[in-house]
Amino acid sequence: MDSSDDEGEEYLFKIVIIGDSAVGKSNLLTRYARNEFNLHSKATIGVEFQTQTLEIDGKEVKAQIWDTAGQERFRAVTSAYYRGAFGALVVYDISRRTTFDSIPRWLDELKTHSDTTVARMLVGNKCDLENIRAVSIEEGKSLAESEGMFFMETSALDSTNVNKAFEIVIREIYNSVSRKVL
Ligand code: GDP
Repeated sequence: MDSSDDEGEEYLFKIVIIGDSAVGKSNLLTRYARNEFNLHSKATIGVEFQTQTLEIDGKEVKAQIWDTAGQERFRAVTSAYYRGAFGALVVYDISRRTTFDSIPRWLDELKTHSDTTVARMLVGNKCDLENIRAVSIEEGKSLAESEGMFFMETSALDSTNVNKAFEIVIREIYNSVSRKVL
């Protein structure tokens, strides 16, 4: 039987989701990890994460994706939340301008607390709400470009680009620095 040195290699990456309250962070995660959507925001406090496995180059790549689970309501996202993160989805709601205006603050916080280069994606969620759009696609793109981030508009409600957004970040991490787990 043919066996290579790479056999059995596994990778584990931590990814965090940040952004203002109610932009859809929890729903993006449950849509990606469980293909579920919840209409009513839950007020659970405390960090939660879910793990999703991808196969890249024949290797098992696990993304441990963390959700603030309401901590941001009290501006209480701790440094432990960010610790060890290799990727981040920084989310705003395209129908609420204030959530886009908060993005620089979230980027600062991420920079302050992260201890490595983080693959970052700016996510304009709720793109199904086109009729009440308050932030243009161009504005999102241009902010992402100026910050050197990926950019995507998503809808956790109708699944638009959700898998894509997570997978671009996971592949980017895999392609650059990665933490190897035996
Ligand atoms: P979080 O506080 O950032 O985790 O936001 P949640 O995931 O709890 O979502 C907040 C509210 O926005 C909930 O009522 C969701 O049903 C709603 N929501 C989340 N994602 C979308 C989306 O893509 N489109 C629409 N129309 N509503 C969404």
